[in-house]
Amino acid sequence: MTNESELLKRYSQTADALSSCIEKHQRQQSSVTLVAVSKFHTTENILTLAKAGQAHFGENYVQESLDKIEQLAPEFEKLPHSIEWHFIGHIQSKKCKQIAPNFDWVHTVESEKVAQKLDQHREGLTPLNILIQLNLQNEESKSGITPDQLPSLAAYISGLKNLKLRGLMIIPESTPDTEAQRGIFRQCKMLLDELNENGLELDQLSMGMTNDMESAILEGATQVRIGTAIFGPRPSKAT
Ligand SMILES: *Cc1c(COP(=O)(O)O)cnc(C)c1O
Repeated sequence: MTNESELLKRYSQTADALSSCIEKHQRQQSSVTLVAVSKFHTTENILTLAKAGQAHFGENYVQESLDKIEQLAPEFEKLPHSIEWHFIGHIQSKKCKQIAPNFDWVHTVESEKVAQKLDQHREGLTPLNILIQLNLQNEESKSGITPDQLPSLAAYISGLKNLKLRGLMIIPESTPDTEAQRGIFRQCKMLLDELNENGLELDQLSMGMTNDMESAILEGATQVRIGTAIFGPRPSKAT
């Protein structure tokens, strides 16, 4: 397990690297949110970061995340800032009931069925922030929709009163080739701009992880999802 001082050091190094990257590419600091991806990491480590000022956490697995959210809620209440939870894992429609009331953001919506169920289970609460997950590389094994499916899903979600469509998310195929990374991110940005030209008001692009953060910032990311750089290597399963 990562000890506290090592974790805090990694966290501040990551936050500094992100901040220099934003500055280098002439973006506004406030235009990019750092989402700390905490899957498989302990509630102790999450709390350490929250106490250090981190406000956004991303989780992938429903049961693991609900346990953590419940355990941390009383601790988070004592903090001077509020915490937002982001669901960034694959969604099975039967899990929407648990996801909808417990998260502030869902990055991985890719079907009307899932959107409809999230909407249904968000009734009576503030609208849930939604991102549509794109797949621009036609990887069979990977989640996300293709650009031709985007306008109709975006229109559908925009019509649901308990959801607030905010933008797009992508997990590209991993490559060290920064031009290839940038090409995919640029396409996401173009698709977002197109939706906005057609009347939507979307302001979020969730793209960039530990290994492609700079390319994502260059191409307009507003949320970067960073796990390894902050926490170190992930344990192979939840502890
Ligand atoms: C695990 C995960 C991340 C974090 O990846 P790192 O390479 O550890 O920064 C980001 N986004 C999603 C969707 C993930 O599943």
